[in-house]
Amino acid sequence: MDDAVKRLAAVRSDIATAAADCERPVEDVTLVAVSKTMEADIIRPVLAAGQRVFGENRVQEAKAKWPGLKADFPGVELHLIGPLQSNKVKEAVGLFDVIETVDRESLVAELLKELPKEMARSGRIPTLLVQINTGDEPQKAGVSPKDADAFIESCRARGLALAGLMCIPPADEPPSPHFALLAKIAARHQLKVLSMGMSADYREAIQLGATHVRVGSAIFGARPPGREHG
Ligand SMILES: *Cc1c(COP(=O)(O)O)cnc(C)c1O
Repeated sequence: MDDAVKRLAAVRSDIATAAADCERPVEDVTLVAVSKTMEADIIRPVLAAGQRVFGENRVQEAKAKWPGLKADFPGVELHLIGPLQSNKVKEAVGLFDVIETVDRESLVAELLKELPKEMARSGRIPTLLVQINTGDEPQKAGVSPKDADAFIESCRARGLALAGLMCIPPADEPPSPHFALLAKIAARHQLKVLSMGMSADYREAIQLGATHVRVGSAIFGARPPGREHG
């Protein structure tokens, strides 16, 4: 069997165990298979094995790979998990089903402009999550936790519907306090979707309420260096 397909099965089984351990229904946790940097031919067997939810971190790369794959495998749900530049919003709202990285006022303004046009064009628009920079890391995208309440309220006041929050904890710290912080901010705003947990820490994230775990290397194997969160 294909290595990625084998690893997919192992991750699914781990997710089921982690959910059972904290008495959560396994259906409450969606596996987002992070296929960034992977060629379409590597993704195909994973689609054939039934996986339908995928994450990509670059608009251009997703645009090159996914229209063809979507045509062959109906029911794909594509998540944007990397930073979104304002000049790519138009493309992104057409291509992605979920945008996990809403993180600044200028992007909100661009989304408010493009979402009605996309709705008129295709009859659907992406679900939106706000990225929170839980570790307040200067090099990382996302809204600072201290600004999160005001940002979420401002999005809503301007008419942008939000479904939840996403975070990428600092690489050199235990992730659980960051997951707990994200869950706390979400609860304060009645936001249901919590995208948190990657290959190294999705089990902890599930314990702390993750509804979506974003798992790349544990399924597809190691990526070329320098393509982590850019
Ligand atoms: C690359 C990436 C992941 C997946 O990371 P792995 O450690 O390979 O599971 C998850 N989330 C984001 C935002 C990423 O950029």
